[in-house]
Amino acid sequence: MTSETKKYIELTDVLAFRFRCTREKCGAELTLPLRSNFSKDHSVDKCPNCGADWLLISNGSGGGSSNSPLLERIAESIKQLLEWPGRFKLTVEIKPDPKDAK
Ligand SMILES: [Zn+2]
Repeated sequence: MTSETKKYIELTDVLAFRFRCTREKCGAELTLPLRSNFSKDHSVDKCPNCGADWLLISNGSGGGSSNSPLLERIAESIKQLLEWPGRFKLTVEIKPDPKDAK
């Protein structure tokens, strides 16, 4: 018999965004608490270790535009949903841990 267990997290369980650089031989990590004012307090445009582009969208001439406000919109949306007066509790389904698959 095969059974499957679904896992959910509550929005209050979401504490931070974590960036991990995927450039070979870097792997730097940066964790930003959800309360952060991302575009002002933390630049995640580039990897702080190796300089690889993260949220910066390069325009090809050495400049570009940051997408840090995307993080602020996600954080603000979570906050609004948590404060929403509707009678529901919202959870997010997450992928099962491969270790749990038997
Ligand atoms: Zn890096």
